[in-house]
Order: sequence, then structure tokens, then C-alpha cells
Amino acid sequence: MARYRDAKCRLCRREGIKLFLKGARCFTDKCAIERRNYPPGQHGLNRGKLTPFGVQLREKQKAKRIYGVLERQFRKYFHWAERERGVTGETLLRLLECRLDNVVHRLGFAASRREGRQMVAHGHFQVNGRKVSVPSYLVKVGDVVQLRPTSKLQARVEDNINAGRGQIPQWLELESAEKRGNVRSLPLREDIQIPVAEQLIVELYSK
Ligand code: SF4
Repeated sequence: MARYRDAKCRLCRREGIKLFLKGARCFTDKCAIERRNYPPGQHGLNRGKLTPFGVQLREKQKAKRIYGVLERQFRKYFHWAERERGVTGETLLRLLECRLDNVVHRLGFAASRREGRQMVAHGHFQVNGRKVSVPSYLVKVGDVVQLRPTSKLQARVEDNINAGRGQIPQWLELESAEKRGNVRSLPLREDIQIPVAEQLIVELYSK
């Protein structure tokens, strides 16, 4: 299970927006975007205007970075979305949004998708009563995602829920006392509030 291991804040600075990759720190004035909102590196302040290809590339990189997915896996999601009915860009985002690590984050159990990924990979969550330790597991309508009763993360998850850093989307339902979430429907585009122009990603991969 490959993942990006380098500095996270560099990614936000490269995209010029907050990608919320670090949980609580992202909401403080220690956030690198608040302090140095220009691309990292020696020539960070002197980058020229983006070409049309550059604009498409940045949208794709942004989506990958928000969901913590590397290029090969991201391309797989794209090909998968292409084969599905409907608008390819929206299907792509829906697939990414249905990842278990994202669902754990959107339910408020984890402060960031990265934390959600770690919690899932370490076997702290169950889906429909069975342990699932695969962060890329795609949830379906009717699935019940719950912190395992034997998990040692009870207090941490409770803290995250109480911190209430984001609104629970309509397609999910949280039962905070049981540390459980229900998948009520599949997410629509308006439920996926990430600042990405998915059509540009489709154009990039369709060349
Ligand atoms: Fe991005 Fe969070 Fe780092 Fe700010 S603190 S730059 S939002 S990862």
C-alpha cells in the first residue's frame, strides 16, 4: 500500500490552497498556507503563468493529494469511472469519496483523511460487523461503519467527534454515541465539497 511520505504542507503550498492534510493543525495559524502562501522551492515565488496543460495537471494533482492517492491508483479510478454510466468526472469523485478512509474522516471519527487511513489500516474499524483494514474499500448504500468495540482509540475518536471540524454530509448519518455511521445513499457532486474542476481531469486523461 504505497503512500506519499514527504512533507504534507508542501503539497498545499504547491496547490496554493488548504488541502487539510494534517487535521487540527490546519485550523491554526501554524498552517503553512497562512504563513507562506507561495509554491515551495527555490523558484517558488518566480513561477510563470500556467499553460492549459498545467491547469489540467494541477486539478488532477489537487484531487490526488486531497484523497491521498498516488498516480497509478488514481488512474485506475479514472478508468473505472470511464466504464461507468454517467458523467465521468463526477463518477471519479464519487469513487474517491466512497473510500473507507474518507468515510471515516467525513463522519468525524478522524481529523484528516490521513488519520482515517491509518485508523483503518490498523484495523480499528468494522463494516457491517466485520473488520476491514483496507483504506481503499468502497462503501455501498446500507453499509454500517463502526469503530470496533475492542479498539483502543475510543477516547481519540470521541475527541475527534466532539471537535466537530466538519459538517456530516447528507449521504452519511452519524450515531455518535455508538461511534457508528450509516451510508444512506451514494454522494452527489454537491455533497463532495472539494475545490476541484473534475472536467479538467477528464480532459487531461483523455488526450
Ligand atoms: Fe495544508 Fe494543513 Fe499544512 Fe495548512 S497545516 S498547509 S492546510 S496540511
